[in-house]
Amino acid sequence: PNLKVISTLSVGFDHLALDEIKKRGIRVGYTPDVLTDATAELSVALLLSACRRLPEAAEQVKSGGWTTWKPLWMCGYGLSDSTVGIIGLGRIGQAVARRLKPFGVRRFLYTGSGPKPEIAAEFGAEFVPLTRLAEESDFVVVTCALTPATQEMCNKDFFGRMKKTSVFVNTSRGAVVNQEDLYDALAHGQIAAAGLDVTTPEPLPTDHPLLSLKNCVILPHIGSATYATRSTMAVLAANNLLAGLRGEPMPHELKL
Ligand code: NDP
Repeated sequence: PNLKVISTLSVGFDHLALDEIKKRGIRVGYTPDVLTDATAELSVALLLSACRRLPEAAEQVKSGGWTTWKPLWMCGYGLSDSTVGIIGLGRIGQAVARRLKPFGVRRFLYTGSGPKPEIAAEFGAEFVPLTRLAEESDFVVVTCALTPATQEMCNKDFFGRMKKTSVFVNTSRGAVVNQEDLYDALAHGQIAAAGLDVTTPEPLPTDHPLLSLKNCVILPHIGSATYATRSTMAVLAANNLLAGLRGEPMPHELKL
């Protein structure tokens, strides 16, 4: 009953009971922008890990699976001349596109609540419906917010439309994905590989079926985990909290 201010060390706010917060007039501070670069960098690292099979290949070195050179051994899929589909061309989505462009991506597609021609112009990105993004992308990167509209947006129908050679990457929130459907798509070769920084639940139980798949790289929600970024986030969160408690404007207040 005495709660006046919430300061979250994140840009996502799907973990907060916003209706109740609004009703009670509680102010919320969050940390946008300062984690964009680190999260975009991690998204690219995860994409490359999944499409070039880095954890699987590194394991082969340790286990003695690396023997004579074989032409197709440990082959994967590259970004050169590819089509990349970004679900949610927001701050992080744009930063991912900016980083992927120099890899020789041929075409960017994106989806969201509507076209953003000025932002998309930087990447020559085309606004398409989710179904077309699934069908035409070689790489799908999910960087949208978790909302009722995006919950389990990546499901059986979505994965069924993706190419068998395509790679799926999610650094947004686990609940954007129906994990059973993703498991089926990966296990039955409906898609080539996936990289997940976020899961449902977190932590993912160590006996979860997704962890049994070689073509699924799973990280423990480390998108913003660089020393510099976490330090900047901590200072911003502290300043949000102090400003909120003093009744002053917060450096970054969530508009409810
Ligand atoms: P932004 O608000 O800048 O971007 C969110 C994007 O989500 C917007 O572009 C929005 O598109 C899109 N979106 C909303 N509804 C839909 C929809 N129905 N279909 C497709 N796209 C939709 O946020 P950030 O880029 O800063 O962060 C994005 C998310 O990344 C956060 O909400 C958080 O969940 C996650 N995150 C994860 C981290 C990690 O450690 N893995 C770290 C930081 C963030 P539009 O503008 O068209 O509505």
